[in-house]
Amino acid sequence: MPVTTHHYNNGEITILWQPHICIHSGICARGLHQVFDPARRPWIDMSHADSNTIREQVKKCPSGALSIVPGDGE
Ligand code: SF4
Repeated sequence: MPVTTHHYNNGEITILWQPHICIHSGICARGLHQVFDPARRPWIDMSHADSNTIREQVKKCPSGALSIVPGDGE
C-alpha cells in the first residue's frame, strides 16, 4: 500500500489518517460512528462531533494510524 497521509479538518484540529498503518480494528467506527464511518466517502466527517470528543476517540486507535494536530495541519 502506498504511504500517504489523509487530512481531515474542522477548523480547530486536523485528524491525520495513515491507511498503511491502520489495522482495521474498527475501534474508531464502533466508538464514534458518526465521525468514523467506513461505508461513507469521505469516511471521516468531523462535523458530527466536537473536537474534544474526536480527540478522545483518536487516542484509542491501537495502531497509531489516527493522530491529531492543531489547526489545519499544515
Ligand atoms: S481505530 Fe485506528 S487502527 Fe482501528 S480502524 Fe480506526 S484508524 Fe484503523
